[in-house]
Amino acid sequence: MTGDHEDVLAAGEDVVFYDTKGHRHLVRLREDGHYHMHDGVIDHADAIGNIDGAILVTSKGVDIAVVRPTLSDRIFEMPRGAQVIYPKDIGSILVQADVGPGMSVLEAGVGSGALSMALLRVGAVVHGYELREDFASRAIANVERAVGGLDRYTVELRDVYEGIGLVNLDRILLDLPEPWRVVAHAEQALKPGSILLAYLPSIDQVMHLRQALLASRFGLVSTYEVLQRGWYIEDRSVRPDHRMVAHTGFITTARLLASNHRKFKHLTLSPGR
Ligand code: SAH
Repeated sequence: MTGDHEDVLAAGEDVVFYDTKGHRHLVRLREDGHYHMHDGVIDHADAIGNIDGAILVTSKGVDIAVVRPTLSDRIFEMPRGAQVIYPKDIGSILVQADVGPGMSVLEAGVGSGALSMALLRVGAVVHGYELREDFASRAIANVERAVGGLDRYTVELRDVYEGIGLVNLDRILLDLPEPWRVVAHAEQALKPGSILLAYLPSIDQVMHLRQALLASRFGLVSTYEVLQRGWYIEDRSVRPDHRMVAHTGFITTARLLASNHRKFKHLTLSPGR
């Protein structure tokens, strides 16, 4: 198996070692590297030159799977300060905010950069606003390690409540406590017809945002949450997992219309339509 594929694992790239219990270890491969885990030591050299998905054996004779990291692997394994947006929500955000290649997107706050990574991967040009310098630098480092694309990514240390200072934006994505303070700025900064999206943990925050949207040119508003329940499937035991992440955040989207039109204000779209 080793060496007969062109696209083999190389020194300098990140991989995930999975043990048979499903524990995940994100590791950057080095020629002379060794990774110590509960099941024994893995020589990086065993992974280098091997294929994505190879099964390696530790010093204790235990099997380990080595794979290239997915975006979810990255998000859960990267250094985090602020609460990141969960992958289940990120997937939905990309579609509901309809983010695509070349779009000019304002993202505030940037936090640890989980959402930034997903935006960059779909080809957006991301203008990040972040209050905290330590978070901004960590986000840039996380993004650089995970997806690159730094030519399409800037993070400015600024308070988005004070104003946006950009025009002709295609999308504004907000993950911060008081997004209603951004609505008036967003009306000025977005192109007509474009989309504002806010991610909020508490429903009282959603109500506050919805009130602000009522008094704005935004319409076609939708609020929803994403529930993901895993299933355990083995032999005759087929049932939902005992545990699930019961709550993360509510997602609200709205589109910038030409005027504050009462009828389109109270038309609440469900994502199922
Ligand atoms: N979506 C991010 C997490 C964001 S956490 C991720 O996926 O990793 C919320 C972030 O908003 C924090 O880093 C906080 O510092 C920042 N923030 C809060 N208020 C802000 C404001 N007014 N302007 C800019 N950033 C703000």
